[in-house]
Amino acid sequence: MSNFAPKLLNDPLKAADELLEGLVEAYNGQCYKVGTRSIVKNDIPDGKVSLLVGGGAGHEPIYHAMVGTNMADGAACGDIFAAPAPNIVQEATSAIDRGNGVLYLYGNYAGDVMNFNVGAEMAEAEGAEVKTVLIADDIASAPPERKKDRRGIAGLVPIVKLAGAASQTAETLEDLAAVTEKACLQTRSIGAAMAPGSIPATGKPTFELEPGMVGLGMGIHGEAGVGEIPLPPADELTVQMLDLILEDYEKDADVEALKSGDEIVLFINSLGATTMMECLVCMRKAAEYLEEKGIEIFDVVMGPYVTCQEMAGVSFSVTRVDEELKQLWSMPCESFCYSKMEGPIKGGTATVTKTGNANTGVAKKAKAIAQKALNLSKSTEGLSTEQAQQMALNVAAKIIAAEPILSQADRDLGDGDHGLGMQRGFTALTKQVEGTQFENLRELYQTAGTALLSTMGGASGVVFGSLYLAGGKTMHGAEFFGSHELSHLLSQALKDVMSRGGAKPGDKTMIDALHPAAEAAKANIDKPLSESIKAVAEAAEAGKEASKDMIATMGRAKTLGEKTLGLPDAGAISVTIILKTMEEFINA
Ligand code: ADP
Ligand code: MG
Repeated sequence: MSNFAPKLLNDPLKAADELLEGLVEAYNGQCYKVGTRSIVKNDIPDGKVSLLVGGGAGHEPIYHAMVGTNMADGAACGDIFAAPAPNIVQEATSAIDRGNGVLYLYGNYAGDVMNFNVGAEMAEAEGAEVKTVLIADDIASAPPERKKDRRGIAGLVPIVKLAGAASQTAETLEDLAAVTEKACLQTRSIGAAMAPGSIPATGKPTFELEPGMVGLGMGIHGEAGVGEIPLPPADELTVQMLDLILEDYEKDADVEALKSGDEIVLFINSLGATTMMECLVCMRKAAEYLEEKGIEIFDVVMGPYVTCQEMAGVSFSVTRVDEELKQLWSMPCESFCYSKMEGPIKGGTATVTKTGNANTGVAKKAKAIAQKALNLSKSTEGLSTEQAQQMALNVAAKIIAAEPILSQADRDLGDGDHGLGMQRGFTALTKQVEGTQFENLRELYQTAGTALLSTMGGASGVVFGSLYLAGGKTMHGAEFFGSHELSHLLSQALKDVMSRGGAKPGDKTMIDALHPAAEAAKANIDKPLSESIKAVAEAAEAGKEASKDMIATMGRAKTLGEKTLGLPDAGAISVTIILKTMEEFINA
């Protein structure tokens, strides 16, 4: 499927950065850019409880355009469809922190949760007080009894609006978190998609759908929901979607059913290509249907606010508002994404330059020197630090070249960006590692891991960053990479990835290649490196193959259930490529 209109871009890989620069211009002095990719409001008063939102780019105008008056104070912006890396979260936190705590408010996706959590740890280490409320409003992604597993979709617009209003008067971080939790609990959404969007860097669709069908309950990246049905007329689909929302309030033990006399904010969102005409047709029916049930519409929001490029489809979000939420809703607000007040944007009194002042980025610990000619005569027992460095560069080159395979594997089961994330990370790794002289293996792996962690974003940024950082943790001052170092690296990586992401063997993630590899390394720890790495690469390959027979229970693929059978996990393919390339290098 490649009948997408051409995109008006420069280098698609730079789109996330360029759009943010454009957004800062569009804000015309109200917001400025900080560090790698954060946007921050001017004039955040001292002592304010601050509100940070964030997520992947490509869904404009969320999240980064929700910064503004009585809205969010800042946004941490990831690459296209990828969670922001932890250093972005940290730089945004420190830019908006006014000494009274920072609330993180973002959609419940594994990659976002992991990256924001690492970012929170970094911010806390600098003295910030941080709390998190996850937006998990997509009723199609899990039943009410497992609503903590739900994805965050368009409900984030009313939720951020309410939280932004509450943050103006909240005295403590706990107070702001409590009212935001209430807004989340009272907000439910469901989407429906008629056609996919495309990934800017590949031009490939985010999912495939037979013509004439609609993916009911589909997520904003094309994640599966309730199922595919023949596309009914607008009125029928509207009623069907509202019924699913009403049913969900009824089934959820934590809230009361929506009943006659209740007041709601109704939000009809276009996922990108669906026109205002179509949304208005749906609105007409929604209003009529809710009126029949005695449910009062307190206010309406409509527009393409939560999008996925040229994806066609709509979502409906309902927020039940009580007196407190009505008061918050009634406060005017102004942001590039959503405003409730007419008039020009106020400039504020900026004390910071428009294009930012924070100097973040990976601190380069090792000094760059002209690359020395490497003497690659390897002892069968192991590699020198310089040889391990060359091996890391070979691995990076293989991963970068495998982008199309990795993207395709993730397109089959996830959102199609895994190859791009890996390519981005390993390109940065190459830049940091090439031509640098490392004193020891710890420096090498720490530099490599930090490069991945700070540039990849997404679930795999934390996962593969942790893998390399595990090498840094276990190797201390060692200058020799042998079977012991290999085994310690893999065991530590397994431990760290599992504790960070919560996945276990059998969940169909990269762990299913990493776990057998770590076991093989342990079993061969006293053999020469040439033998242990061979066993490790074979075990990873077997683990990746075995992942085909697993049903995904973690990450984006989990909602596909049995449809994931027969296909390998994308991250497991990456692990296998890494370890196989190491074997080729060692045994060349
Ligand atoms: P995202 O899911 O944010 O789009 P990527 O597409 O870059 O991130 O990476 C997806 C891969 O990350 C999956 O194939 C899986 O191997 C790995 N992954 C996702 N979640 C986890 C987790 N909780 N633990 C370990 N690995 C994970
Ligand atoms: Mg992905």
